[in-house]
Amino acid sequence: METETRGSRRVNKRIVIALGGNALGLNFQDQMAAAGRAAKIIAGLVRDGYEVVVSHGNGPQVGMIDRAMGMLAAEEPDLAQAPLSVCVAMTQGYIGYDLQNFLREELLRMGIDKPVTSLVTQVVVDRSDEAFANPTKPIGRFMDREEAAAWERRGCRVIEDSGRGYRRVVPSPKPVDIVEIETIRSLLDCGQVVVACGGGGIPVVREGCSLRGVSAVIDKDFASARLARMIGADYLVILTAVERVAVNYAKPDQRWLSRISVEEARAYIAQGQFAPGSMLPKVEAAVEFASSLPGRRALITLLEKAGEGLKGETGTVICA
Ligand code: ADP
Ligand code: MG
Repeated sequence: METETRGSRRVNKRIVIALGGNALGLNFQDQMAAAGRAAKIIAGLVRDGYEVVVSHGNGPQVGMIDRAMGMLAAEEPDLAQAPLSVCVAMTQGYIGYDLQNFLREELLRMGIDKPVTSLVTQVVVDRSDEAFANPTKPIGRFMDREEAAAWERRGCRVIEDSGRGYRRVVPSPKPVDIVEIETIRSLLDCGQVVVACGGGGIPVVREGCSLRGVSAVIDKDFASARLARMIGADYLVILTAVERVAVNYAKPDQRWLSRISVEEARAYIAQGQFAPGSMLPKVEAAVEFASSLPGRRALITLLEKAGEGLKGETGTVICA
């Protein structure tokens, strides 16, 4: 599955940019503004000569759509609840729509006439992934006991989340394969900017010739690392709400990390330095990518610092 496509033909550095779902806002107007800001920065990287694939998170957005579809199903007796895989597909559509339009616009402003495509992307997961027996990823908003019970009657798992109320939890299996990978490679090879694997990808399992959507949400940081490996990227760039990764985070002896080896990162993971569900998957994804082939690196930084980070001036760089 892993390919090394860094042929002699390729001169530009290829990068995967993973945008945080939280940074995309909680409503349509905020999302437009956020996508506009992200597009300016990403277009700047395209102008600098990088071949770019953009992936993005969808935690708040998939929760909102799932809830909206739930309300509709409650109102319309003939309408079943939308499968979670369909909700993920919807988030790819409306987030990709904003990103591709703003990217196109920013590139044109820079005098660059480059097509931008966002791709409905399916990501294969393993039916026997232990995540299916142990759903851990909370999605959507907090609910009271009564509402939680209604979800449980529909066969969904609900947890009490640290005294703040009840939340639905879904399995978060690891990405195994990207169904549309050849399309992504082809688009990149002909010079396009691609938005792919949004929200970690639509989770599917293979059943003979069919792909069947499953009720899960794949972590976008892991999906981005998989994508970066499969397109032979040089750099995995994870853009989030902090400029650098820290050890002893939010403690008096907090220390920001600027450049660490894969081994150091693994040691910090083992010490429990990174919060599960937020920084841990980023550092794990960075380690997975940086250790996959010599020369590959991962960067974790703020959206606004992406350019400086790629020049090695800020952010946390993880390399072999
Ligand atoms: P995204 O939406 O970009 O995936 P997350 O909220 O999931 O963002 O993860 C990023 C957050 O992780 C940071 O904003 C920070 O609050 C938190 N975090 C947890 N542990 C650390 C750490 N060790 N160093 C830096 N940030 C951390
Ligand atoms: Mg996250």
